[in-house]
Amino acid sequence: MSSPDTLPATGREWHLIARPQGWPTPGDFALRERPVAAPDDGQILVRNLHLSVDPYMRGRMNDVKSYVPPFQLDEPMGGGAVGVVIASKAEGFVPGDHVLHDLGWREYATLRARHATKVSAEMAPLTTYLGVLGMPGLTAYAGLLEVASFKEGDAVFVSGAAGAVGSEVGQIARLKGASRVIGSAGSDEKVRVLTEEYGFDAAFNYKSGSLTGQLKEAAPDGIDVYFDNVGGDHLEAAINVLNVHGRATICGMISQYNATEPPAAPRNLAMLIGKQLRLQGMLVLDHADLMPQFFEEVSAWIRSGELRYRETVVEGVGNTVDAFLGMLKGENTGKMIVSLGD
Ligand code: NAP
Repeated sequence: MSSPDTLPATGREWHLIARPQGWPTPGDFALRERPVAAPDDGQILVRNLHLSVDPYMRGRMNDVKSYVPPFQLDEPMGGGAVGVVIASKAEGFVPGDHVLHDLGWREYATLRARHATKVSAEMAPLTTYLGVLGMPGLTAYAGLLEVASFKEGDAVFVSGAAGAVGSEVGQIARLKGASRVIGSAGSDEKVRVLTEEYGFDAAFNYKSGSLTGQLKEAAPDGIDVYFDNVGGDHLEAAINVLNVHGRATICGMISQYNATEPPAAPRNLAMLIGKQLRLQGMLVLDHADLMPQFFEEVSAWIRSGELRYRETVVEGVGNTVDAFLGMLKGENTGKMIVSLGD
């Protein structure tokens, strides 16, 4: 085994201790100190540097069958993380290597090396492997270009537009020749970032007035593609404004993740018929084949300055729950990250 002289005896990890009803509260989680397992054959021990908190994790807190298994009560939660290998019994991995893996929400992770992907801090800042160059970025790329069948000249509307996925959808659409890019977000400052930093043609604050009214004003010729991160009345407004043969990628419905009642909207699904619309759900897991192409194209745009990104970084493993809840409330601009210190 290659390792430093002493390995940590214990590390802190977040456990789900109660299943939230509606909005999660800090009391649903506990930060517990547990022994750190030394790596076995084929395993590595990783000190996590950056943790991801993502909207899909809210679904994993419910005890329901889904495309990812629910978190178990009194067990460590998981999620995307980037860390540094501190001990290895796996061929090809040595202390000092940086890896991306799924055992987040904790300080140390012992895992099979085949479940980790090496990443390079020289190629890109390590946090970007959780955001603009990681899972949310691939979601934006695949969801727009493949699922929505985007083509040059399309007018594109994206909700949750100042977040990790949304901000990349809008910029990819612009770079691929959209006729108009429109975004909605939950504050005037986010709206400013969309038009002034990311080059959206129009943006509006969905908390400031009628959604359909604001969307119509921002898209006088209608929209051809809607990238849905929000669901509910955002989806209803988009259906109202989509042009004939329009397409929508149903990527997320964050307005419903903490709801205890079914949503009132959309109430206009009958419009799908006359407008011959296509609404298609997506899962990023299904688009892993696009990863190399996505990585090459988006990292080149970042290097050239054509695609910009922001991250909201919260410090300290003890603040992971606050970061998660803050992300659900819109406290982030761009990817929400928890950094544990280098
Ligand atoms: P994010 O947009 O970076 O963060 C979540 C944002 O949602 C918040 O910043 C907040 O921004 C917005 N929000 C929260 N409640 C809202 C509400 N009631 N109405 C409108 N906006 C609300 O998160 P992300 O990681 O990029 O994910 C965005 C969406 O994509 C989520 O729905 C997620 O579930 C989905 N997703 C799907 C896949 C897939 O494979 N299908 C993969 C990744 C992500 P405001 O300040 O603007 O409200």
